[in-house]
Amino acid sequence: MSDTLIKIENLHRYYADTHAVKGISFELHQGQVLGFLGPNGAGKSTSMQMISGVLAPSAGRILINGIDLLDNPREAKNQTGYLPEKPPVYPELTVDEYLTYSARLRNIHKSKLTNAVDDAKQRCGLTQVGRRLIGNLSKGYQQRVGIAQAIIHNPAVVILDEPTVGLDPIQIREIRQLIADLGKQHGVILSTHILPEVQAVCSHVQIINQGQLVFSDSMESMNQQLQCNQLIVAFIRPPEEKFLLELKGINHLDDLQNGRFRLHVENDHSTAELIVSTSAEQNWGLIELTPEKQTLEQIFVELTSSDLSKENAA
Ligand code: ATP
Repeated sequence: MSDTLIKIENLHRYYADTHAVKGISFELHQGQVLGFLGPNGAGKSTSMQMISGVLAPSAGRILINGIDLLDNPREAKNQTGYLPEKPPVYPELTVDEYLTYSARLRNIHKSKLTNAVDDAKQRCGLTQVGRRLIGNLSKGYQQRVGIAQAIIHNPAVVILDEPTVGLDPIQIREIRQLIADLGKQHGVILSTHILPEVQAVCSHVQIINQGQLVFSDSMESMNQQLQCNQLIVAFIRPPEEKFLLELKGINHLDDLQNGRFRLHVENDHSTAELIVSTSAEQNWGLIELTPEKQTLEQIFVELTSSDLSKENAA
């Protein structure tokens, strides 16, 4: 059996004249947590809504677990769970009432309702709050309830749209752990513009900008490819900048003040060796030498601001 949970082919969406999603294609496989990144207005929510079956594409094909979403919407939608940007919870219901209602909406048989609700509560850490009114729960717990309704029917794919927005740092850690756990049993698509979130929980990352996919890679391969082309150095008796720039392999530098510099180098190994030996010879008093990798944030800014600047220039 194939492990392809989602196959998206050339997906488009127009809102009147706005071409919000411009022909995106990608796949999600079993066990993957895909971070879907993009600046505001890039087309993330529109894409999530189309994949979840709540918004019709203008063109393209969406296969969920091999089922065509447009041909067999009911069957395909049963394979997905969706947490929209604003959790669709009813504050006047208790957690148990709401999850039972969600399970019935998903056509779960009466005899299996209690098990489904208990299982979702257990997986989302809600066992102790079943009888509490949702409106009285903290935002983090309300978000857990939103995630519980998304997995109540044990779907193959869980789609979460900005699940940690508005949460405090402890709640964020808990929800991220929950997402990582979900990734072990389901495929997860996580839409966000919080870059550390992607680094913390995702196995794959995609960047969408102005409706187009501009980057797609696994975190592992991305981390390997990120070049170590910066060195942070600090000296007790710092040399003048011109002496550093004379050293072979240093292209340019940023003065970080108090004897610290960020050196932009061609090869971090040979340049590091040269700095150590020259500092010893010249008595500069080297006290710090740390390689610095290009970050996801730098990739994101490069890919999403260059197009904007091109457009602004046009
Ligand atoms: P954010 O991070 O701000 O939520 P996003 O990446 O989710 O942004 P979308 O909400 O998908 O982006 O919006 C993509 C584009 O489509 C934007 O230009 C937006 O203004 C437009 N758009 C979204 N929804 C509608 C709508 N219902 N009617 C008209 N235009 C819309």
